[in-house]
Amino acid sequence: MKKRMLLLSFMFVGLMNIYAQESHLIGIADTYNNGQTTVPRAYIDAILKVGNIPIVIPFMQDEKRLEEIIGRLDAVILPGGEDIAPARYHEMPSPKLGKVNLPRDSFDMAVIKLAMKEHIPLLGICRGMQAINVYFGGTLYQDLPSEYQIKKVAHRQSVPKAIPTHVVYVEPHSYLARVSGQDSLQVNSFHHQAVKDLAAGFRVTARGSDGVIEAFESDKYPVMGVQFHPEGLVIGNDSAMIEFFRSMPVKRKK
Ligand code: MN
Repeated sequence: MKKRMLLLSFMFVGLMNIYAQESHLIGIADTYNNGQTTVPRAYIDAILKVGNIPIVIPFMQDEKRLEEIIGRLDAVILPGGEDIAPARYHEMPSPKLGKVNLPRDSFDMAVIKLAMKEHIPLLGICRGMQAINVYFGGTLYQDLPSEYQIKKVAHRQSVPKAIPTHVVYVEPHSYLARVSGQDSLQVNSFHHQAVKDLAAGFRVTARGSDGVIEAFESDKYPVMGVQFHPEGLVIGNDSAMIEFFRSMPVKRKK
């Protein structure tokens, strides 16, 4: 009887280890604003849905503490938000520039720097993608409607985020192609800024039918970015976007 209990408890511990190995700790950078630590709920739910553990990386200026936190994570997500201050890419602000969040700009840059230092895979979504491009030396359109010549795609949809409104064409050798098995995807769109000059070391992996960069990856850094909101599409049970979160690159354990 005792032996059997022992065997059962070993089996239980074994099973728990399998589960423990499967779930990854995914940090979401704070969308800090006016002294409030916040993260839109959809990011949390998308990570939970695929069996991973979401954790908020709170805004802080102490980079030593921030590195301690980031070093313990398996991957980091930089979420969407305000426009990035054009001074970060050496441009004067356009009159059409939207709301900026200077403390968050500094925080995002620190998160990118420390994720790279700790070799933690980084996913940028919307503003997060733009922040990564700027960090690595790229530039942005401050306002697509006034700066981008081709007007055929509405990149600021008014319908909810679970509803896709425009197509993106996906490069064959890309994460998006792998997780979706498609060469085009229907995505949502909530941006008036976009990548203009792509940073060195990156390649475009998806574009809108107007040519606007909608995703990138890097062969040099453990980084990728999407201009749309996969976490929003997960709400609508988009199978490609669920797979997008399920297969997210994570740090290999030593
Ligand atoms: Mn778009």
